[in-house]
Amino acid sequence: MGNSDAGHTPVTVLGLGLMGQALARAFLRDGHPTTVWNRTSEKAERLVAEGATLAGSVGDAVAASPLVVVCVSDYDTVRGLLEPLGEALRGRVVVNLTSGTSAQARETAEWLGDGYLDGAIMAIPPAIGAADTTILYSGPRTAFEEHKATLRSLGGDPTYLGGDHGLSSLYDVAMLGLMWGIGDAFLHGVALLGAAGVDATTFVPFARKVIGTVTDWLPGYARQVDEGSYPADDASIDTHLAAMDHLIHESEAAGVNAELPQFFKALTERAVADGRGGDSYTAMIEQFRKAS
Ligand code: NAP
Repeated sequence: MGNSDAGHTPVTVLGLGLMGQALARAFLRDGHPTTVWNRTSEKAERLVAEGATLAGSVGDAVAASPLVVVCVSDYDTVRGLLEPLGEALRGRVVVNLTSGTSAQARETAEWLGDGYLDGAIMAIPPAIGAADTTILYSGPRTAFEEHKATLRSLGGDPTYLGGDHGLSSLYDVAMLGLMWGIGDAFLHGVALLGAAGVDATTFVPFARKVIGTVTDWLPGYARQVDEGSYPADDASIDTHLAAMDHLIHESEAAGVNAELPQFFKALTERAVADGRGGDSYTAMIEQFRKAS
């Protein structure tokens, strides 16, 4: 199935929630003939006014385009919508931008077949289509390359991770973990300083500086982890552990939640018990590699 309309591949978008509407609008903005379908058809009204074609059924929507993007609440819904279509999906590329787990992505690949790409959106709806918006894709490289130019409409940085369909979801949750880790540590610091009358805005430049500093450490951290060797070039785990006690005591004294530093300490004590006290902080990777 080839491109048409002067290089503007027809695209179908299934699911017009907050994200699906943003995806369809981004395709329309770039001139792709865009067919849409949503369980609640009223959500298509504005898009139709902007030039989209509303299909009367999922089957009609899929039949309209060689590239089908699906973005609904969960993978069960994806399966409920697409599996009944059977052969009608053959020869099309289905890009599933619904959030889920790597196991769900791999399972979907089993019943959906060759033309399946799983994806993860690292953005909120207003950022869809922006040059610096990253969307991750995994699955067959040929399917990605065939539609990479069209997928650029959704975000200027369509990133292919490899043939394992589960990779998009795995990167997605790993990055969400970073977001929550940094976010919670920031908010804990805000609570602590707030107890001394310092407002959050005052703390921001200090927080940004330390986040930037830690960011700069990451390549060195990664090198030690990849090499499996943890020389303490800067500070040992024993030194970190002592500082964690200060954070716990300050939190308790201020009457704010001390669970976050208590968790840091509990994990670090296990590393010390494993004989890693004199090593670099990167040796903590061994604690994260164990099942909890
Ligand atoms: P949403 O606004 O709640 O939309 C959910 C969509 O799923 C709607 O189109 C809804 O149809 C459809 N749906 C749910 N159950 C269905 C069913 N049984 N049959 C048919 N359609 C069904 O959610 P959203 O924000 O668009 O998110 C969609 C996906 O994108 C999620 O996996 C989310 O994690 C992911 N995502 C969202 C964001 C974000 O910032 N919003 C960012 C990254 C990833 P109706 O309209 O008929 O209810």
